[in-house]
Amino acid sequence: MSYKITLLRGDGIGPEIVGQAVRVMDKAAALYGFGIEYADALIGGIAVDTFNDPLPRETVDMCKSSDAVLLGAVGGSKWEGLPAHLLPETGLLGIRKELALFANLRPARIFGPLREASPLKSQIIGDALDILIVRELTGGIYFGDRGRFDDNGSPAAFDTEKYNVDEIRRILKIGFESAMGRGKKLCSVDKANVLESSRLWRQTAVEMAKEYPEVELRHLYVDNCAMQLVINPGQFDVIVTSNMFGDILSDEASVISGSIGMLASASLGSTKLGLYEPIHGSAPDIAGQHKANPLATILSCAMLMRYSLGESDAADSIEKAVAKTLDDGFRTADICKKGEKCVTTEQMGDAVCERLL
Ligand code: NAD
Repeated sequence: MSYKITLLRGDGIGPEIVGQAVRVMDKAAALYGFGIEYADALIGGIAVDTFNDPLPRETVDMCKSSDAVLLGAVGGSKWEGLPAHLLPETGLLGIRKELALFANLRPARIFGPLREASPLKSQIIGDALDILIVRELTGGIYFGDRGRFDDNGSPAAFDTEKYNVDEIRRILKIGFESAMGRGKKLCSVDKANVLESSRLWRQTAVEMAKEYPEVELRHLYVDNCAMQLVINPGQFDVIVTSNMFGDILSDEASVISGSIGMLASASLGSTKLGLYEPIHGSAPDIAGQHKANPLATILSCAMLMRYSLGESDAADSIEKAVAKTLDDGFRTADICKKGEKCVTTEQMGDAVCERLL
């Protein structure tokens, strides 16, 4: 079995962190008996410099003909003043749209040895924390009708939250199925006490729960969920929610985990082809200095193997190797406390590869 992965290394630290992730994927593939064929394509600032286009057609075609896409990061001050169609971020939004990715999965995880990096007290976190937030990505208020009008002489504006049942079902399905592969607990977050779209969301979740009898479904209003995440985050396994609520809750959850260099993400559509990337940006302030933490990208590769390749044993092994690397005291500068020894991007990659068994 051999898989095709398109690599979009991007800008800033992108090439450095993707380089380490490829080494880890190669080791996992050798251990678990499958092959990976990589194809490099350009996106973001480097694509603007080369083709005057942040998302060249060739890149889109290459991504579409792969089993999965791994992205580093895009952007940097060099491209900041360009017109909108040439901005690196335009390439990023474009590839998500081209691949019809409607679900964003963000694990918010605290590894035991990094507990102190979290702004939450140790006793609230417990031994470790592992939450998966599933956010709808292409519907809801960010895409609904909006406008300005004159409200009896007072300038007014409106935005519309709209979801149809098919859109709700497809994102809830990812929520239920993710829960099946984890702790079998799904929390559906809405504002059904106020919003009609949330009442449809909740009704759909209740109906779908019959298809997943092993999953324990509960509902929380978004305001309560925001509180529960900081009071008792250990109660959550998978959270599924709409675009706007997910935008806010996933950022809250990432702050809880304390370090941006550790957070992976996956964007999925209705086929197996997904886009995997760390949640951080291109970190131009440390690019080329061998300081970047490659773990968010390596953990994104674990998600890639789980969701797009169906190689869940390899995915589990990568996550265990990262945990062991941290247990053994390896720290890049962003997660290094006083008195601890800092390693380079490459040394962190070496350490994970050595622990991948
Ligand atoms: P950033 O995430 O790049 O950096 C924020 C801070 O975190 C910086 O101090 C950086 O050094 C640090 N950091 C980030 N990733 C790290 C890692 N792996 N290891 C160690 N430290 C890390 O956000 P920013 O500085 O606001 O943005 C920089 C550029 O990245 C901008 O051009 C922005 O538009 C772009 N950006 C891209 C993406 C993306 O590609 N998905 C996301 C966010 C920002």
